[in-house]
Amino acid sequence: MHEYSLACEIFETVIATAHNNKALAVNSIELEIGRLTHVNADQLLFCLEVLSRDGIAKGVKIDVNFVSPCGECECGYRGDAGVSDNVRCEDQPPLYEYTGLTCPTCGKLLQLVGGNDLIIQTIDIEI
Ligand SMILES: [Zn+2]
Repeated sequence: MHEYSLACEIFETVIATAHNNKALAVNSIELEIGRLTHVNADQLLFCLEVLSRDGIAKGVKIDVNFVSPCGECECGYRGDAGVSDNVRCEDQPPLYEYTGLTCPTCGKLLQLVGGNDLIIQTIDIEI
C-alpha cells in the first residue's frame, strides 16, 4: 500500500528528529499534502496512528494541511487553482476538479503548478 510506505517514511523522519533532539516525547506533527499527490489522507493518518501506538510518538497529534495547486496562464495570470485550504480529510476534493480550469482573465486553459508535494511542516517535541 502506497500510503503505508509513505507513513513509514514520515514516521522514521519524525522519530529520527526526536532522537537527534533528545526528545522525551513527540507531541504533534504537521503535514502538508499537495492535492495532486494522489495520497489518501485518511489512509495515511490511519497508518501513522498504527505506527505511533507505542514508543516516543505515542498519542501524537497529527494535523494535515492540504495545499492547492496554483494556476498559471500564458497571459500572466497566476492564482489559486483550488478551493480553500485547511479542510477536513473527508472534504479532500477529487482530482477532476483541477482539470479544465480556465483563466478568469482571458479564458485559456490554466497550467497547474505545485500541489504535488508531501512535506512534514513541523514536529513538536517535548525535551
Ligand atoms: Zn489568461
